[in-house]
Amino acid sequence: MTDRLYLFDTTLRDGAQTTGVDFSLEDKIQIATMLDGLGIDYVEGGYPGANPMDTEFFGKKRTKTSRFTAFGMTKKIGRSISNDPGIAGLLASHSDAICFVGKAWDYQVRVALEASLEDNLDSIRESIATTVAAGRETLLDCEHFFDGYKANAHYALQVAKTAYEAGARWVVLCDTNGGTLPHEVERIVTDMSKHIPGSHLGIHAHDDTGQAVANSLAAVRAGARQIQGTLNGLGERCGNANLASIIPTLKLKSEFAGFVSIGVSDEALKTLTQVSRALDEILNRSPNRHAPYVGASAFATKAGIHASAVMKDPRTYEHVVPESVGNHRKVLVSDQAGRSNILAELERLGIEVKKDDHRISRLLEEVKEREGLGYSYEGADASFFLLAQRILGEVPEFFRVERFSVNVERRFSEDGGDETIAEAFVKVMVDGERLISAAEGNGPVNALDLALRKDLGKYQTYIKDLELVDYKVRIFQGGSDAVTRVLVETADETGERWTTVGVSGNIIDASFQALIDSITFKLVRSGAVA
Ligand SMILES: [Zn+2]
Repeated sequence: MTDRLYLFDTTLRDGAQTTGVDFSLEDKIQIATMLDGLGIDYVEGGYPGANPMDTEFFGKKRTKTSRFTAFGMTKKIGRSISNDPGIAGLLASHSDAICFVGKAWDYQVRVALEASLEDNLDSIRESIATTVAAGRETLLDCEHFFDGYKANAHYALQVAKTAYEAGARWVVLCDTNGGTLPHEVERIVTDMSKHIPGSHLGIHAHDDTGQAVANSLAAVRAGARQIQGTLNGLGERCGNANLASIIPTLKLKSEFAGFVSIGVSDEALKTLTQVSRALDEILNRSPNRHAPYVGASAFATKAGIHASAVMKDPRTYEHVVPESVGNHRKVLVSDQAGRSNILAELERLGIEVKKDDHRISRLLEEVKEREGLGYSYEGADASFFLLAQRILGEVPEFFRVERFSVNVERRFSEDGGDETIAEAFVKVMVDGERLISAAEGNGPVNALDLALRKDLGKYQTYIKDLELVDYKVRIFQGGSDAVTRVLVETADETGERWTTVGVSGNIIDASFQALIDSITFKLVRSGAVA
C-alpha cells in the first residue's frame, strides 16, 4: 500500500511573479487545462477580487478533475469578516478550494502586520472557519514557516494548529525566503507531524539555494503529503520547486514510488516533456536544454565510446528511460564522432540508411572537416539534417541568392538624437525568375532575415510564418584568424523549432548561411517541390 501524495500547482499565482512573465487570460486558461490533463490535484489560479483578470478567470470553473483553487489573504485585523472584501471575493469565485496565506513568524506579525500574535491567530481561525462553513475545502499557506519555527517554534506551531483545528484540510509549511536546507526541512517537518498528521501537511519550497526539489522531497520523507510547486520551476527570484522534476522523481524512483503515489498516470507522464515545452512556448522563452528529465540535452551523449555503449545498452548511461517522460535519447555528432554516433543521429532524424552504406564514411569525413573549420552540429540538428541529406539523398536547390548587401548607418535623427538603422537588399533566383527585396531591421541580421523572407516566389506560403526565436554568436580563434559561429533558432506556426549553424570570418556571412539553412530545412520538411 502506498500513501496518496497530492500535487498543488501554483504556476498561475506564485509562478506569475517571475520577472518577465505576464499571463493573459487566454494563457491562464490554456495552462490550467494542461495541468488538469497532467493529473495535478490542485490548480491555483490567482487572487479573485484582487485584479479584474483573475476575477474573470474565476468567473467559472476552469478545470475538469483538478481542484480549482483561489488564493487570498486571511481576514483583515480590526475588520469584521462579513465586511472583508477579500473574503467576499474568494467566496464569490467559482473555486473548489481556497488557499489562504497567513503569517507564521512572530517577528513578521509584529513588524509587517503591526498586530498582536493573538489577533493574527484569530484572523486565521475565523477566515478558515468561514470558508469551511461555506463548503469550500480550505488550505493555509504558513508564510515564513521555517524561519518562524527557528525563531519561535511555539508560535509557528500555534499558527499551524489553529488552522488545522479550524478545519483546514491542509496546513502548508512555506519556505518563503527559500534559505532552508533539506536536513532542516526533514527535521522540522518530522517535529510538526507529531502535532498535525502528515496527511494534512504540505510543503512550499523556493529555490534560493538550488534545493527546492530536494526540500520538497525531504518533507515527503518526513511525512508531508502535499507538494506545492510550479511547472519548469517558474517563480520569483530563483523560482519555486519544479514540478517537472518532482513528478518523474516521485513516479520513477523506487525510493518514492514504493511508498507514495500521485494523480499523474504513466500515460500522462509521457506528456511531461511536451507540457513543459508548451509552457515555454506560451511564455515565448527558449526551453532550458539542460532541464532534468525534460531538457533537450537530458539524454544526450557526446563521446564516441559512450555513444556506442548507449546504443548497445542504454541503461549504462541513462538513469531512467527517456520515453517514460516523453523525451528521447540523443547522440551528438562531435569531435569524437564515430560511425555509431552518426548512425544513431541519422536514425533519430528519421533518415533511413543501411549500416554498411559507404556514404556514411563520406558523411563522417565531411562532419570532421567542417568541425575543424568551426562548425558545431551538436546544437544544430537542422544543419546536420541538410548536410546528411545532401550526401545520402538529395536536397533540391529551391532558390539561389545571387547577391545580397547589408548597410548599417548611424545618423542624426529628426529629434536631434542619434539613431542607427540597418537595411538589407537581396537578389534571389527562384524558378528562373529574379526577385529583388529590401527590408529594414533593428540590426543587420534582422534586416537580412526580413529581406530574404520577403519574397521567395512560390515558396512564400511555406515561410511566411517563420520566426527567428533565438540567435547566438560565438567568436573564437581558428588558426591565425578569428572565426565567428552563429546559431539561429527558428520556429514555425505549429511551434516546431529547429536550429541551424553558419561559420565564417564575417558575422553577417555566418548569419546568412544559418538563415539559408533554416529556410531550406523548412522547405524540405514541408515537402516543397523545386
Ligand atoms: Zn511562494
